[in-house]
Amino acid sequence: MSVIGRFAPSPTGPLHFGSVVAAVASYLQAKSQNGQWLVRIDDIDPPREQSGACDSILKTLELLGLHWDGEVLFQRHRQDAYQEALDLLSSKKLIYRCNCSRKQLQGNAYPGTCRLKAHSSKQQHALRIITNQTPVNFNDGIQGHVQQNLENDVGDFIVRRADDLIAYHIAVVVDDAWQGITEIVRGADLLDVTSRQIYLQRILNVPTPAYAHIPAAVDADGKKLSKQHHARPVNDDQPETILFLALEFLGQQPDEVLLQGNVEEIIQWGVKNWSMKNVPEKATIEI
Ligand SMILES: [Zn+2]
Repeated sequence: MSVIGRFAPSPTGPLHFGSVVAAVASYLQAKSQNGQWLVRIDDIDPPREQSGACDSILKTLELLGLHWDGEVLFQRHRQDAYQEALDLLSSKKLIYRCNCSRKQLQGNAYPGTCRLKAHSSKQQHALRIITNQTPVNFNDGIQGHVQQNLENDVGDFIVRRADDLIAYHIAVVVDDAWQGITEIVRGADLLDVTSRQIYLQRILNVPTPAYAHIPAAVDADGKKLSKQHHARPVNDDQPETILFLALEFLGQQPDEVLLQGNVEEIIQWGVKNWSMKNVPEKATIEI
């Protein structure tokens, strides 16, 4: 089976170092196995998006020599497929309407308040999927064995938001399956939601890809790098240096001499020498 990896950024701002590391890791994991590497824009949440961010992200990837295969997929064009998935969940009687306010939802796991309430469709409501006590297990390529009891740890989770936008987990699962993604390499901040996505894959009867979660880049306060935390966009920097630092972050021990090379030479070295085993088994790394 041929390997297909992907990078799926949200267009909420320019790429920062943490997302570049995820792009580099997913690229090298696919290309070191002669696989394809796809780019998908996670543009399903317009209120959070920033105009120009998508162009800026694609430009940065090109600057870094991370050339994707095929066309970029824009998730905003995939609403019909997401609706089909919701219809399937509905036909299995696995979703219900919830109109709990944010204030009502204080705890960690949703307690199933609306499961048996049968709210009218006329009121504004979110849709939740019924979870259960069967543990979801998977072996992460970097972080090791993960197990979660969804009903206790998460509760029935949202598959369509009260503002009618599709929930992230549905969009991800539907498109990973549709694009035939075999390996997902992404930041460890998403480790915790993987069980939810595997649960959906099983119900929607689609394959579960291999998962590997790289450490998230955090600042000295332990906060994930994002534009909220004034992480500097990478466009302004030397792409060669960024690539070199990304390889170092990923435990690949790049040769110093590479700093004199160009982007293509650094990427080639990365593809040739990539070893997932060398990526630190940590949730976060401070930079
Ligand atoms: Zn509710």
